[in-house]
Amino acid sequence: MSNYNSKSPKAEEFISHEEILSTLQFAEEHKNDIEEMDKILERARDCKGLTYREAAQLLECDDKEINDKIFSVAKEIKDKFYGNRIVMFAPLYLSNYCVNGCRYCPYHGQNKHIRRSKLTQEEIRREVIALQDMGHKRLAIELGEHPTMNPIEYVLESIDTIYSIKHKNGAIRRVNVNIAATTVENYKKLHDAGIGTYILFQETYNKDQYEYLHPTGPKSDYAYHTEAMDRAMQGGIDDVGCGVLFGLNLYKYDFVGILMHAKHLEDTYGCGPHTISVPRVRPADDIDPDEFDNGVPDHIFKRIIAILRIAVPYTGIIMSTRESEEMRGEAIEIGVSQISGGSRTSVGGYVEEETEENNSAQFDVSDRRTLNEVVDWLIDKGHIPSFCTACYREGRTGDRFMSLVKSGQIANICQPNAMMTLKEYLEDYASEETKAKGLALINERLASIPNEKVRQLVEEHLKDMDRGKRDFRL
Ligand code: SF4
Ligand code: SF4
Repeated sequence: MSNYNSKSPKAEEFISHEEILSTLQFAEEHKNDIEEMDKILERARDCKGLTYREAAQLLECDDKEINDKIFSVAKEIKDKFYGNRIVMFAPLYLSNYCVNGCRYCPYHGQNKHIRRSKLTQEEIRREVIALQDMGHKRLAIELGEHPTMNPIEYVLESIDTIYSIKHKNGAIRRVNVNIAATTVENYKKLHDAGIGTYILFQETYNKDQYEYLHPTGPKSDYAYHTEAMDRAMQGGIDDVGCGVLFGLNLYKYDFVGILMHAKHLEDTYGCGPHTISVPRVRPADDIDPDEFDNGVPDHIFKRIIAILRIAVPYTGIIMSTRESEEMRGEAIEIGVSQISGGSRTSVGGYVEEETEENNSAQFDVSDRRTLNEVVDWLIDKGHIPSFCTACYREGRTGDRFMSLVKSGQIANICQPNAMMTLKEYLEDYASEETKAKGLALINERLASIPNEKVRQLVEEHLKDMDRGKRDFRL
């Protein structure tokens, strides 16, 4: 008898091992039922999402026609809800001191040869100015877990510092936070500090594997970690970002696990995760390459992304520079809605060039292009790079954000915001060549804004920007 209960507050009941195994078995037994798969995909076109069981069935199926249809339905849903805008962000590493023992991460407490550092507020200022000068408006701050080096007060002070810096036309308008699982009280403090999304990767939902991978430190407590999003929601943060590190465990298990987690949040709090990230394991210092070898092959990884797009249509999907230009290019067509650009994954990496000697990177970056190169590439592909942070600043978070997406108003809100923030980027930071291409793309896409009043307003704001004004949003 399964102990599964999607509304339970207990990790082992809302992520039920038995239920995951029975789901995987069901998917395996029904993988040749092509008619059933086709029906699932036809239903999915209504954009109401899929159950984790249906999603697992699609993932298991290796019929070529069904596979092609998975990608075409995913693209259809992505176009409908997200249009062709791709939201840009950058990670900012504040400190790599960490007391945990995660076997796959070079910041683990036992690694004695990685350079440890923690940015002072002055150093944060310099990093943020460097990021603003690239054109970034949205950051995700990253820290290891350390009670004395990285206490919550340090995180809060750093968020204040980041929001306070206004350099030339630059501003960081949304700070997402990726810190270790913490208390409801601390989540309240983060909420009051005005964070965007609280991000915490589960790494793996398999409890035994989780405990093996996290032998020491506070993170070794599976239940405390898995229930963190509940505490974040109880602390008032209604935009939470989930993720697993694909390659740590059997991918099928974690795929079902993350959908179960999404269902738990939706059933309990009326709002699923704001985003899902899809990192795969990368080489890193002091990590055994044979144990963690990026175990999910590309063709399956793409299927995972496409089925996630279909299963949770209202959840943004994030892909970092861990993945190559080629993979990112394919992923944005079938599901990914947010990518990083020009990223440095070491502490202080935006000001100080990373070298062999001073390298404190968390993982090797695959896509090493500058932000301008990524923007240019997106424009060439017909996507609008977006520096938009409007929803959070307009109070459209949690279920208010979800209703906006569900109402299909993205074309009247998201696309115009993408155009206006791209224009800001082009005016202030782009190369001449990128600027010319980007302005042409904006002109071409203006006509696709369905609401006439919105279109006129955007046209006015674009002209205002020529006169030096900035920061327009809907
Ligand atoms: Fe620390 Fe996070 Fe790395 Fe684990 S994954 S060692 S918690 S920084
Ligand atoms: Fe994101 Fe909202 Fe901006 Fe769209 S309008 S890009 S959903 S912040």
